[in-house]
Amino acid sequence: MKSIVPFVAKLEKSEIDKWVKVLKKKLKGARVVKFSDLKKSEYSKVEVAVVANPNPSEVEKLVNLKWVQSIWVGVEKLVQTFKGSGVKVVRLVDPEMNRTMAEAVLSWVLYLHRDMYSYRVQQDKKAWIELDYIKPSKKVVSFIGLGELGKAAAKKLIENGFKVCGWSGSKKNIKKVKSFTGHFGLKKMLGQTDILVCLIPLTDKTKYLLNYKTLSFLKKGACIVNFARGAIINEKDLVKHLNSGKIKHAVLDVFEQEPLPKTSILWKHKRVTVLPHISANTDFESASDIVAKNLRLFKLKKKIPKSVDLQRGY
Ligand code: NAP
Repeated sequence: MKSIVPFVAKLEKSEIDKWVKVLKKKLKGARVVKFSDLKKSEYSKVEVAVVANPNPSEVEKLVNLKWVQSIWVGVEKLVQTFKGSGVKVVRLVDPEMNRTMAEAVLSWVLYLHRDMYSYRVQQDKKAWIELDYIKPSKKVVSFIGLGELGKAAAKKLIENGFKVCGWSGSKKNIKKVKSFTGHFGLKKMLGQTDILVCLIPLTDKTKYLLNYKTLSFLKKGACIVNFARGAIINEKDLVKHLNSGKIKHAVLDVFEQEPLPKTSILWKHKRVTVLPHISANTDFESASDIVAKNLRLFKLKKKIPKSVDLQRGY
């Protein structure tokens, strides 16, 4: 019998159609449909669904759901939807995503390292001023989060000559990466950081992890890159540190409210670079291969891939 795999997503219609079409092609033995095309009589036959920001009232109807496969890496909303439900959440883990994020981290770290924003401002003023050059071997780039994305990006920066530190829940043993854990570890790491890169999931414990107090642990003149989630940093506290010059520049790709409201002071802040959540998008080609492979494995062997710890939140 053909298994039924609904695609449950709050996305543009064209995006949903694209995913359904490719999964149909890659999963010959399954009936892949968008949720709205699922018959009521089929709800109880569904064991797995592919999801992207699903409407909780839709997934609730799938009473025999065992697991969901997300097409995204970050799972903070899915954690809220499925905590306590018994349904397992499998997030996207994709080497192509890790590569894209590592490329983005290198790009924006170099932007800060080579003062690109300052030279742009100088050009606007027709100012011919040579700024100090400090080589990467004398600069410390630190990561908040050393998971799939943090690890890949850390390796890329090491290849480019930077000194690299990382803070995570458990101690890491990664070649040339100085590993820190716990509150005191965070303080110690921030005190030696020139550029801080956030790649940590948003959970109850990491919300506003970077606030007035923790940001004050940074070295004077440090820069920040946030490629994780907006709420990891308390925006008002960040702005205070930017205004005082304690923090020299922030590259922000993620915000508590997206798109960033037109009224936000971040748009025009001279020490802020705003990006529209573009550091690493899901790669359709590689991600659909991974999703299809996971679904095939479940169909053949009833094996559910490694799932998110819903209590821990990531
Ligand atoms: P991951 O593999 O789950 O790694 C998470 C890392 O954070 C791990 O090192 C973990 O420590 C650490 N961590 C989590 N909670 C912690 C805590 N309370 N204290 C200390 N360390 C903690 O996640 P990932 O795949 O690298 O992705 C990270 C995040 O990037 C995602 O959750 C998502 O929000 C974001 N993201 C953004 C974009 C974008 O376009 N901007 C794209 C993709 C993903 P342990 O190693 O000890 O567990």
